[in-house]
Amino acid sequence: MKFNIPILMYHQIRDIKEKEHLSSLAVSPGSFRRQMKMLNLMGYKGVSLTELAPYLSGEKRKKVAGITFDDGYLNNLTHALPVLDQLDFTATCYIVTERMGKTNDWNLRLSQQPLMTKEQIHEWINSGMEIGSHTLTHVKLGEVDAATAEHEIVDSKNGLEDIFGTSVHHFCYPFGSVNDHAMKTAQKAGYITAVTTERSRCTDHEDLFRLPRVVVARQTLPHLFWMKIATGYEDKKRKR
Ligand SMILES: [Zn+2]
Repeated sequence: MKFNIPILMYHQIRDIKEKEHLSSLAVSPGSFRRQMKMLNLMGYKGVSLTELAPYLSGEKRKKVAGITFDDGYLNNLTHALPVLDQLDFTATCYIVTERMGKTNDWNLRLSQQPLMTKEQIHEWINSGMEIGSHTLTHVKLGEVDAATAEHEIVDSKNGLEDIFGTSVHHFCYPFGSVNDHAMKTAQKAGYITAVTTERSRCTDHEDLFRLPRVVVARQTLPHLFWMKIATGYEDKKRKR
């Protein structure tokens, strides 16, 4: 049976300063609230990857949209969590294990923003939200040697599971950088899904270790947001 399931990709939820460059991935708290309300009005339930998995495999059918946040910014907790809570939505936040409580220092051209501490991640989980792994140090998996890739993919999972006492079944490739080895390693490590930065809604024949997403950026106005969810707009941006 055919379906199109959007997995929304967010990074930061915060207001930005006029002078700030390269902040297109920071969605304002007001826009985020309007987007989640629109999703709800369109009849979709926003869900974490664990809740989404049976829909991706075709076992369950309903209007659902995956909600994901990359990197683990503190502003996900302060600005996104209350909105998700209010609508009874869940979401997956991909944590960079060795950067908890630090900043997004893998890209110094971007404004440095605080990432959640362990305590704050506990708060995120205790509120019914989910965490996934985004490696140990935010490396380009498609460009590092095999041993490094395995270390980053496997040990980040084990580390998060030890610290938070929860299963970590979902993975996100940093910078969208992925190759066959990284996909196989993620599968062997026991993850159930892995998301990329490839653009599209998910179809009924998707590789669970190379899931495309629907990018939501600062300039995604309400009409465009609707188009990305309800039409083939994002699917046409797909490269592979
Ligand atoms: Zn990232």
